[in-house]
Amino acid sequence: MAKAKEAKTRVFSDVDYERRGKQATVLRVPQSRNDSGWAVVQIPITVINNGKGKTVLLTGGTHGDEYESQIALAELARELETGDVRGRVIIIPALHFPAAINGTRLSPIDNKDLNRCFPGRPEGSFADVLAHYVTSVLLPITDVNLDLHSGGRSMEFVPSTTAHVLDDPAKMAETTALALAFGAPYHVVIKEVDSGYTFMTTCERRGVTAISSELGGGNRVSIPGLQATRRGIANSLRHLGMLKGKSDGDDTKTRIVTVPDYGCYAFAPQPGLFEPYHALGARVRKGEAAGALHFIDDPHRQPVVVRYGHAGELWCTRGQGPVAAGDPVAVLVAPA
Ligand SMILES: [Zn+2]
Repeated sequence: MAKAKEAKTRVFSDVDYERRGKQATVLRVPQSRNDSGWAVVQIPITVINNGKGKTVLLTGGTHGDEYESQIALAELARELETGDVRGRVIIIPALHFPAAINGTRLSPIDNKDLNRCFPGRPEGSFADVLAHYVTSVLLPITDVNLDLHSGGRSMEFVPSTTAHVLDDPAKMAETTALALAFGAPYHVVIKEVDSGYTFMTTCERRGVTAISSELGGGNRVSIPGLQATRRGIANSLRHLGMLKGKSDGDDTKTRIVTVPDYGCYAFAPQPGLFEPYHALGARVRKGEAAGALHFIDDPHRQPVVVRYGHAGELWCTRGQGPVAAGDPVAVLVAPA
């Protein structure tokens, strides 16, 4: 397939990806304001290059309210030294930086979800320009990407890695091996319908091995989520031969599961205060009550029961009580 010539990025930086050693600097994304015409948003980046080997790109904070990856990757950026690494590690703890500083999923600059803006475009708004930098500058030098997510404000997950069903069996096996090395309790393999504009899909289209994750959430820093994130990053780097030591991924016994169809999603039919009936990981039956919607403005009205449309295990629950109509309140997984 003939590749269209990439438009030039608008992001600039003094980072030199080819230079040996450890560099801690910033990416500068132009963001003109009324009170500062030549202003930039500065996104911290750490590059640790110890010569020959793979390049892994580690990104957190693609959604600003997903905190576990931001903490774990900042820690890694502080602690990892050139001598610890084989190859090159690029760490961006808070990729969608304005959203991360704001503690929100979307950026306050353009109200966009970065993970719906890939592959990006340089003539777009902030999130488009940033996605375009990742696609046009970082992905061509990247072998493996871990873009680490969690549930943020709206959801809470059993800590999991995620990946798509891929057409190429060799690439699929490589991706699954990486996820098993990461060692989260679940590895969720999804056949996604509308994933065209995500970071992971852009990696797949460009031949970059990619896994993502859902590591906690619930509108806070999840303790099991952060533990799984720290351990998973180190395990993945060892699995890739980029860090000394063996992966300790085996003792978790990661289970490969899937979300077979939309019956696995239970949505709130109307606004209310959602009372969940099950804890994360619970085994549930098709038709069983998932929880109840309460109507605080009308205490005499009977709550509405929301039911599971599939049998499975509770992978994701609502991260906060109030829900709008159409919000998912439960997502199930089933054996792959
Ligand atoms: Zn996310």
